[in-house]
Amino acid sequence: MPLDSNDLTATDRERILAKAALFAPPPAILPDGRIDLVGQSREDLAATIAAAGEKPFRAKQLWHWIYHQGVTDFAKMSSIARPLQEKLAEKFVIGRPATALDQKSADETRKFLFKFRDNEAVETVYIPDPIEDRGAVCISSQVGCTLSCRFCHTGTQKLARNLSPAEIVGQFMAVRDAYKEWPSPKGDTPRLLSTIVLMGMGEPLYNYENVAAAMKIVMDNEGIALSRRRITLSTSGVVPMMDKCGEDLAVNLAVSLHAVRDDLRDELVPLNRKYPIKDLIAACKRYPAASNARRITFEYVMLKGINDSETDARALVHLIAGLPAKVNLIPFNPWPNSPYETSLPATIKKFATIIMEAGYSSPIRTPRGQDILAACGQLKSQVNLPPA
Ligand code: SAH
Ligand code: SF4
Repeated sequence: MPLDSNDLTATDRERILAKAALFAPPPAILPDGRIDLVGQSREDLAATIAAAGEKPFRAKQLWHWIYHQGVTDFAKMSSIARPLQEKLAEKFVIGRPATALDQKSADETRKFLFKFRDNEAVETVYIPDPIEDRGAVCISSQVGCTLSCRFCHTGTQKLARNLSPAEIVGQFMAVRDAYKEWPSPKGDTPRLLSTIVLMGMGEPLYNYENVAAAMKIVMDNEGIALSRRRITLSTSGVVPMMDKCGEDLAVNLAVSLHAVRDDLRDELVPLNRKYPIKDLIAACKRYPAASNARRITFEYVMLKGINDSETDARALVHLIAGLPAKVNLIPFNPWPNSPYETSLPATIKKFATIIMEAGYSSPIRTPRGQDILAACGQLKSQVNLPPA
């Protein structure tokens, strides 16, 4: 019997998950045997605490101290008696990545290089709103990337490995530490770190299970409590995992489109050869969180003379017709030896107008943190030294 497209998607999904496992992060255990509690799901934390011979309510208390209060020292957990604090500290840690570099741009964008226990590192960017007290934390999901989009600096760094839930949520927590935003603000209280964009290094849907585990921790109401509406996952178009992401997480979706014709997208975003535009748009139409209130964002990097014509703009409108969508135009951010140029401001404006006149919002993204290579597509955690 021939396989139908559902079976093919399921097979593909299995293959993607199996491949992700080949790049699994190291276990969250220190050389002295202590276990890092950060990154464990509620269920895992309960099991860990039970295995240590403690009552279930202790897991709940720890969750609160770790994710609501942001405490990293058991001695500060005032609801836990001293002897138990000491016992916990012998067996466990509440980890953070090490801050290997902390740079601030002229526009206040701040870029961190976070290093993990095995010395692998990623970049994380905090982008404050220029006016209000809020901002986005741009989080990485992999060390490097297997996809080599032609315009992306991260794409020149080979994939070293996937990040663990602890390393993903740990980036957010470490930035929180830097801005001293603990305990987690409740309800509608303004937050400096008000949104998460999974738009850093790596393809989040190629490390789906760890990303999902981390986002479930972030969304938990008794901890960091950031709602799914404040989280945006950006993908270059891993179609079979988009459905899964919609079912499990239903966070906002951003799709790195960048071209409206398969021949060009094949070149710019090589993953298009596997999941062409038609399949990508169909997956967007199926995405459950997409409604008028929560539109899908199409990211479109503006490359001079490559994808920025008026014909392209009109084809783009045609492509997304019927989808609750907005189009984010990203002027290309150059990096050392990058092969493209940024479209001219007038060209970008014209492009935006065509999309707007068709009824879609089409903001032009102001590059942030370019002076410290913190803007979209400029992140890379491994410096290429010139040959000796
Ligand atoms: N891997 C995911 C997440 C990275 S998000 C993805 O590709 O969607 C980073 C966004 O910046 C993506 O839309 C990416 O295509 C875009 N980008 C990459 N390089 C860029 C560059 N040099 N200038 C502007 N945008 C870039
Ligand atoms: Fe990877 Fe995204 Fe960069 Fe493409 S744009 S190489 S998918 S990080």
